[in-house]
Amino acid sequence: MSAILERLAAIVGPSHLLTAPTDTAPYCLDWRKRYQGKPLAVALPGSTAEVAALLQLAHAEKIPVVPQGGNTGLAGGATPDQSGKALLIALQRMNKLRAMDAANNSMTVEAGMTLAAAQTAAEQANRLFPLSLAAEGSCQIGGNLSTNAGGLAVLRYGTMRELALGLEAVLPDGRVLNALSGLRKDTTGFDVKQLFIGAEGTLGIITAATLKLFPRPTATATALVGVASAEAAIGWLSKLKDAFGDRLSTFEIIAKVCLDLVEQHIPGTRRPFITPWSILLELSDSGDAATLNERLVDWLGAQTLLDAVVAQSETERAALWQLRENISEAQAKDGISLKHDIALPASAIPAFIADADAALKAQFPSCRIVTFGHAGDGNLHYNLSYTRPGNVDLYDDEAKVNEIVYDAVYRHGGTLAAEHGIGQLKTQWLARYKDPVALQIMKTVKAALDPDNLMNPGKVLG
Ligand SMILES: Cc1cc2nc3c(=O)[nH]c(=O)nc-3n(C[C@H](O)[C@H](O)[C@H](O)COP(=O)(O)OP(=O)(O)OC[C@H]3O[C@@H](n4cnc5c(N)ncnc54)[C@H](O)[C@@H]3O)c2cc1C
Repeated sequence: MSAILERLAAIVGPSHLLTAPTDTAPYCLDWRKRYQGKPLAVALPGSTAEVAALLQLAHAEKIPVVPQGGNTGLAGGATPDQSGKALLIALQRMNKLRAMDAANNSMTVEAGMTLAAAQTAAEQANRLFPLSLAAEGSCQIGGNLSTNAGGLAVLRYGTMRELALGLEAVLPDGRVLNALSGLRKDTTGFDVKQLFIGAEGTLGIITAATLKLFPRPTATATALVGVASAEAAIGWLSKLKDAFGDRLSTFEIIAKVCLDLVEQHIPGTRRPFITPWSILLELSDSGDAATLNERLVDWLGAQTLLDAVVAQSETERAALWQLRENISEAQAKDGISLKHDIALPASAIPAFIADADAALKAQFPSCRIVTFGHAGDGNLHYNLSYTRPGNVDLYDDEAKVNEIVYDAVYRHGGTLAAEHGIGQLKTQWLARYKDPVALQIMKTVKAALDPDNLMNPGKVLG
């Protein structure tokens, strides 16, 4: 063992420093299997003090550092390069609930706690932690903060940025920032915690966070509605907000092709009807579930629509959610695709879809476009395959496809990364589309906190 590895092992304990390729392998490949890295070692610290000691040593010895949470990120942000020089620090052992303050509707958790465990901790105190996404069994609070994760309830509760009251982070030189706080108001200058949210590990390592909690809704009403076009689907968003206000907690739009794929690839799934577009909507409220369901049924009865079902039981609700949640897996089973995690003003979504679809079809007549997403907050997953018959050599067309899609996104006032971040996948596109002054501010902050560019090099700013 080299002297550096011995010093790292002395910090976390020999059994928590992984160096054998068989032990480090699970940390070296990203979820989409697009990036394969080779670290110097994988360290599994058990406390903030150990993270601080690791970063002090890395800073002194100029060792690059890659933080990793649950490794479910979709932009390659948590995968080291192939040089064998970077120390990968995985937070999984730091998974404790530090404090529950139900009266303040907040809790403080360590960054390696999984999202599902955080939801459970809140539930045990009769509170709701509302962040919810399909990878919640594996992704961690530190990863959720670092990617500013969104998911299925952003419409009502906001993204991870809005759910964080405070955080603790270790800076690249090993100093510990204690910005843990249960305060909802604090006007003591810059809100420094915000720098670390969405930074994808480029400014330091988040070790704990104080999170917002909410009362648990006692009633939900869920429906799948069939409509003729994306324009009609987006029209429903305003109508539903006018009718139900903040009770509208989910508004997902789904193109027909998505559910074709789900039925084809996920055994046992069947959609209740076939229409060009579907909306999965959910209302949540305090009070009685039957009353809320009746209100939704009555309201739907007065609308113009192609078809609709309202879930009458938890089983029916789960079956509707299964249709939505299985789209990514069905698409993966169908073969590779070029994914775009974009956001637009909700009102611009129909024009964007028409514009981008037409431009892509003009360039790639055989292409297949799979569109779905959390349209209530303007977020679309806009995925493309079959640029050539048989879906061969898809990645050869990636740059052209991205250019067409992102040009259309920015024409319609959108962004190229809504919730998956930049990682190493989109650095060249960030450099091209981000406002140059905003980019310069990001580089200035990075240089101030990490002058040696040791924290997650090659990610976000490239
Ligand atoms: C099936 C599936 C569904 C998904 N659905 C959604 C969705 O609906 N909404 C959504 O937003 N995302 C979604 N994702 C993406 C992913 O789950 C999120 O980006 C999640 O927040 C990543 O968390 P993680 O712990 O896995 O982070 P990782 O993948 O381990 O890391 C992500 C980034 O954060 C950095 N990082 C991780 N932990 C820390 C830390 N403690 N301190 C500093 N930096 C850190 C890493 O270096 C990396 O840059 C989905 C992924 C999958 C596989």
